[in-house]
Amino acid sequence: MLITTQAVDELAFTSALPPEEEDEPPSTAQLTPVLAPLRVSMPAPTPSGAPIFFPVPSNHLTHLKKTVPSRSCRFRKRFFPDASVKLWNNWHWQVAQRVRTPEKLRSILHLSAQEEAALTDATSALPLAITPYYLSLLDPDNPNQPLRRTVVPTVLESQRSKGEADDPLDEARQSPIPGLVHRYPDRVLLLLTSFCSTYCRYCTRSRVVGHNSIHPGRQRLEAAFAYIAAHPEIRDVLLSGGDPLLLSDEQLNWVLSRLRRVPHVEIIRIGSKVPAVLPQRITSALVRMLHKHHPLMLSLHFAHPDECTPETSKACARLADAGIPLGSQTVLLAGVNDDASTMAKLMHGLLKMRVRPYYLYQCDPISGSVHFRTPVDKGLDILRALRGHTSGYAVPTYVIDAPGGGGKIPLMPESVLGRDTDGLALRNYEGGLYHYPDFCR
Ligand code: SF4
Repeated sequence: MLITTQAVDELAFTSALPPEEEDEPPSTAQLTPVLAPLRVSMPAPTPSGAPIFFPVPSNHLTHLKKTVPSRSCRFRKRFFPDASVKLWNNWHWQVAQRVRTPEKLRSILHLSAQEEAALTDATSALPLAITPYYLSLLDPDNPNQPLRRTVVPTVLESQRSKGEADDPLDEARQSPIPGLVHRYPDRVLLLLTSFCSTYCRYCTRSRVVGHNSIHPGRQRLEAAFAYIAAHPEIRDVLLSGGDPLLLSDEQLNWVLSRLRRVPHVEIIRIGSKVPAVLPQRITSALVRMLHKHHPLMLSLHFAHPDECTPETSKACARLADAGIPLGSQTVLLAGVNDDASTMAKLMHGLLKMRVRPYYLYQCDPISGSVHFRTPVDKGLDILRALRGHTSGYAVPTYVIDAPGGGGKIPLMPESVLGRDTDGLALRNYEGGLYHYPDFCR
């Protein structure tokens, strides 16, 4: 029973309001109980090569475009009238005020029948939680608005379809230590927490997130650090969850410092959706702390160009100014971003925020995801429409994370047509045929 009751890992954030601060987080001494165990439709590519432009689909946030400067202000005054600007900009307040009940959500959005049915469904696997900030981006009247589809449940997610699984990537089988996945030779995935500020309805780890199942407890993490130290082939550690940036600065600093003690760990990456759903978390203090642990990279999760707001731009600028390379990960989602015009707009928006598009994921076949999944051909069509028609930096690598734990497999539109004795027959982005003299053997 997840949506109609409060998930246990939510409780710690609701106990006290933090002091009003616009930028710096309040003392973590006040707000650390959740982590207490640690104690520290694009047109198809034109065969003629005529320029492609990217029309904006009609379901984008046109209702917000006229009011962007005062959007969150109006939303705050209407739905959180007691909150000052400083409180609104305090990330602890945003977390404490997340909307987690049908009643509260119903008071802000006009819910559709499918949404209503989901909110009273006791079997839903993933809790409901949306930050006030992210809620301010949602269209109150349109259940098909892309951002709304990603965070408001519908009854469709309770339908299990052929080929779906709770753990399609078989992470549990590849975990020598609870919460540590060792799939590739030289890198590991370390899950720090199962907590997120906002729960995405298509989450690959919906089996664990929001269920208080993964803690950044010292005992488990010491075992993970010992495993990493004992495997000199591990040169890259990806911290994920849940969202690692929901740990306090002190706790995250402790984790990063412990990893930095392992001589063969060359790079540390953090996977996070915080800049999109809770940009207030990217404080100067957090960035100063992260800066101490270079080389450190962030893999940021974005789904739609409407997430590229002034607040998120500011958060990304802070991170980029600290020399932290920012890459994006985007899941291809039906009705959200599965047309090339939306995808191009997102990729261009990310680059403008100094985030390099990195991966475009085919949606994993998690239980209840069929309404989000697209045919693979659609992803290839999008890649075909992007490649050559826009900057190479704006073209992500399209991958399938192979069910069963096979890892990421890149998918490319066919460009090598064949080989003869002199070389390769190639097709370019305009459909033109070319020959490359490939006989240096
Ligand atoms: S932020 Fe990431 S881990 Fe959290 S619900 Fe969304 S996809 Fe899952």
